[in-house]
Amino acid sequence: MYRTHTNGELRLAHAGQEVTLCGWVQRSRDLGGMTFVDLRDRYGITQVVFNMETDAGLCAKARELGREYVIEVKGKVTERSSKNPKLPTGDIEIAASSLRVLNAAKTPPFTIEEHSDGGDELRMKYRYLDLRRDCVRKNLELRHRLGIEIRKYMDEAGFMEIETPFLVKSTPEGARDFVVPSRMNPGEFYALPQSPQQYKQLLMVAGMDRYFQIVRCFRDEDLRADRQPEFTQLDCEMAFVEQEDVLQMFEGLMRHLFKVEKGVDLPPFPRMGWQTAMDKYGSDKPDLRFGMEFTALKEVFPQGKFSVFDQSEWIGGIRVPGAAGYTRKQTDELTDFVKRPQVGANGLVYLKCLPEGGFKSSVDKFFSPAELEAVAQACGAKGGDLILILAGKAARTKVALGQLRLEMGSRLGLRDPFDYKVLWVVDFPLLEWDEEAGRYFAMHHPFTAPKPEDEPMLETEPGKVRANAYDMVINGVEVGGGSIRIHDHDLQRRMFNVLGFSNEEAQRQFGFLMNAFEYGAPPHGGLAFGFDRLCALFGGQDSIRDYIAFPKNNAGRDTMSESPSPISQAQLDELFLRTTAGEKGKSL
Ligand code: ASP
Repeated sequence: MYRTHTNGELRLAHAGQEVTLCGWVQRSRDLGGMTFVDLRDRYGITQVVFNMETDAGLCAKARELGREYVIEVKGKVTERSSKNPKLPTGDIEIAASSLRVLNAAKTPPFTIEEHSDGGDELRMKYRYLDLRRDCVRKNLELRHRLGIEIRKYMDEAGFMEIETPFLVKSTPEGARDFVVPSRMNPGEFYALPQSPQQYKQLLMVAGMDRYFQIVRCFRDEDLRADRQPEFTQLDCEMAFVEQEDVLQMFEGLMRHLFKVEKGVDLPPFPRMGWQTAMDKYGSDKPDLRFGMEFTALKEVFPQGKFSVFDQSEWIGGIRVPGAAGYTRKQTDELTDFVKRPQVGANGLVYLKCLPEGGFKSSVDKFFSPAELEAVAQACGAKGGDLILILAGKAARTKVALGQLRLEMGSRLGLRDPFDYKVLWVVDFPLLEWDEEAGRYFAMHHPFTAPKPEDEPMLETEPGKVRANAYDMVINGVEVGGGSIRIHDHDLQRRMFNVLGFSNEEAQRQFGFLMNAFEYGAPPHGGLAFGFDRLCALFGGQDSIRDYIAFPKNNAGRDTMSESPSPISQAQLDELFLRTTAGEKGKSL
């Protein structure tokens, strides 16, 4: 038997017991006649003491131990003279009577401590060492607990976990597919699923009624800072439901998770229409931890005084409480912020409401104090507040002001990661016009149902049709989204037509789903949550990477296993692939 206890287990009540422990040497210290070793495993750290006086040979052996050696120690649990209140095992230590080195270890390339000296890339290359760190392991423990709680909740609510295939048909729409060549079908390819969307709908046709799956999904997108090419969804679908049923069910799940994991009773989730979210926050995932809602100012500023405003379709402002003292340098910084290509505004107008009364503004020379007063009033500002104003094309300017709002929320410390504000955003547009492609795309996906009352406009005014689609948003992050689906064969065909697919093309690409709809499809709907993101939110961190055991880096690479990598000519031949990719790989 390698061990009698773990390194997180022993307490004062065990004093006097003979135990055997195993683990990794976190650190060792020689203090004259004593050598102390901190022994670590997944469960904690226990101090082991080797005494020169009782066993000089053993003590000498202990002095040879390097960091991260794997050892087995036998000894007696004894009360410590100087206790360590920071460790759960800090009241005791093990007076060692034997030591066995199970495996020596090279010196790790970075310190395996809460605050490691290893940079991101180095820790990713040695991810198995990074995972030994408490803080990283705790993230995986959180992920595990959430997964278990979700499965329990879903099971109790009558959902069945059903696996769907990973080798699927490549379909257009959505993101780019990862494809897998088929050896047995030369020249043909599978795709890895971007989500089990069509399969879960088929499961509803199959009468499974309530389906869920914690499932890996794959999207070959350019990676932004916090995207992974493979990620995990909690994917769900229900038959015989309306939007309200879905919202109730998953609001229940989320409240349950917050209750068990955080001990927090969340209030009922408010609902906000998409248009309202865009008008008030410039985002379809508003962060409600703080106010600073937009005030529309086009009607407030008089015409004919400032040509930039005259030419702007929309003018909007946010009131930043208590920030009238911002210096020139600070307002310049904000101007630079909004002018960055990612934000894309042309400039920033500010209006400082001075605590002693009066204003100081970058548009002083265009507007009278009374006119500025009217603006301040419209924004509900008082002395000491700062009003930040953007102007331009309506849709773009709202988004830019939304980004400035978030920036100000961060600067003012109003975005506490452990203050959770959850809401549903509903009534999304069904379609989105793509200027470049010159056609409409489904905003969610092509299986999303229009609101019944908007359906007659599908062909005549497609841009105005709203969808029975919804997103769950927490602290400005879209954690989940879904819709009521089209279950009528004809309506699905009309939808594909609006998206520019001929009947034949739609049949070729999506025939299996459309055909299924001819065999008795129940009304159905569902949603999917980003599970990695949810874990990060619960952990109060921004990056999903820290919640995935073996993530890819920003270039989509696994630097530990060095994938992707070239494959041999023999493999290429077997797959009938004639590409230059192999050569390119070699020359790199
Ligand atoms: N399959 C959708 C997605 O991945 C979610 C859903 O509609 O259920 O975004």
